[in-house]
This record gives sequence, C-alpha cells and structure tokens, in this order.
Amino acid sequence: MKIWLDGGLRDLDTARVSVFDHGLTVGDGIFETVKATEGRPFALTRHLDRLARSARGLGLPEPDADEVRRACTAVLDAKPMPLGRLRITYTGGTSPLGSDRGDGGPTLVVALGEVTRRPDTTAVITVPWTRNERGALTGLKTTSYAENVVALARAHQHGASEALFGNTVGQLCEGTGSNVFVVLGGELHTPPVTSGCLAGITRALAVEWTGAQETDLPLDVLDRADEVFLTSTLRDVQAVHRVDGRELPGAPGPVTAKAMRVWEERAADDLDP
Ligand code: PLP
Repeated sequence: MKIWLDGGLRDLDTARVSVFDHGLTVGDGIFETVKATEGRPFALTRHLDRLARSARGLGLPEPDADEVRRACTAVLDAKPMPLGRLRITYTGGTSPLGSDRGDGGPTLVVALGEVTRRPDTTAVITVPWTRNERGALTGLKTTSYAENVVALARAHQHGASEALFGNTVGQLCEGTGSNVFVVLGGELHTPPVTSGCLAGITRALAVEWTGAQETDLPLDVLDRADEVFLTSTLRDVQAVHRVDGRELPGAPGPVTAKAMRVWEERAADDLDP
C-alpha cells in the first residue's frame, strides 16, 4: 500500500513520522475524511476549504491545496477500489522536546482505505458528556478525537454505532463523527453550527437539498422525535432505529426515506469537476 507523506508517494512499510511530531505528542493536527467512488473523490473542494479553515483556527500554516489534491490523486491511482476513504492528516510538525511547534514545518499524510457500504439503519445512544459550543477548537476538525473515541466505545458497548452529544446548555449537538437530524410533526430540523457541531459537508448538502431547518433543539427532543437520521461522509444519510432504549419502528420513516432518496440522486452529480 502506498501513502503520501511529505511531498511524495511512499510504501506504507517504510513511511516514517517522527516520534516528536506534534500530532502525536499533543494532538496538534487536523484531518479530513473524503469518500472516493471508483477513484473519484466526493466534494473534495469543500473538504479542502474545511481543512484550510481548521488550519487557520489552530494557527497552522494553510496546507497547499494543490499538493493535497495531487496527493489524493496519486494515492487513489496507486490502488483502485470501488469505494474508498481518503484520510488527509496535517499536523504541526516535528520539534524536539521542550521547543515550540513545527521547527521542521507541518506534516502531511494522505492514506486510502477500503470501505464497505454501511447499513441503512443504526442504533444510537446519548452520552452524559457535553460538547463545548464556545471552545477554542469548536467547529475545527482536529486530530484531538479522544473524547469521541471514548463516547464511541460506550456506544459499541450498548450495541449502537454512534453516540450523540448535547452541548453545555443542554441542546442537541452532534455525534462522534456525524451530524444529527430529527423529524418533529413532519418537519425536518438539525442543530445550527452555533450548537458546537462540526459544519459537516454531508449536513450542509442535506440541508440544501431537503430544506431542513437549522433549529436549537433540547437534547430530550430525541425522546419524542418521530424520526432521526445521521449524516456523514461515510454514512451518507443513515436512519436511526433506536435512540437509547427507545425504538423508532419503521425506520427509515417517510421524511428520512425521502432525504435518503434525494441524497442518492443528487450526490451522484459531480460536485467537484
Ligand atoms: N461531526 C463530527 C465530529 C465529525 O467528525 C464528522 C465527520 O467526520 C461529522 C460531524 C460529519 O461531517 P462530514 O459530513 O463532513 O463527514
């Protein structure tokens, strides 16, 4: 398997990142996961824009978008597969212990993994920990994902594939790696980015294509929502059939099923010619 590391394609076995890389020592890094169908990345420009926003938010030099595009193409060409996930990782770079970030400049890694299609429905849980809607990292896609790892492990213990967070003022926020939509009285809502959620690319397109409203919602809206679905790069639009102990019989319900159909149709268009 070939990956892109610092300016060129390398064999995975020989590619090396320093043990002093700030992405490893303090989680000072950002990332993107991009879906690629038959070697074609989906919405790459939007992902690169978000990568640049995350870099600015973290005070990292902006990644060279042309290099990242070249890297994605090189990695995809090196290993054709029907459905892949590109992982773009960009960190503060290497510096000896005790000195400031990145003496050697940032580290860029682009790798590709194969994915299988996800199930159409899933169970989710809520967790008692909160997203901070006003933190320094709010809205940035950083490699500091340990909180998500802990929450996701709890979801797996409960037979669920995702854990949902509220924010510090008790509003519904997002999942560990997804955004959340709920149907109330036939109307589709999703939390606004001011709730502290990531500005998901799937979320933005789903809002545009379905007309969903961005609404502050209390976390306990999940106890009475008629339908719930998740969006993310690898889930696309995925119906939820159980929230904590509560079954949502018949998932995907009519509004979710329509969102899934609209997604399938519209996402087939080349968003990134
Ligand atoms: N929220 C979080 C915390 C995420 O990590 C992700 C994606 O990984 C999402 C939401 C969904 O974003 P996207 O649709 O861009 O994949």
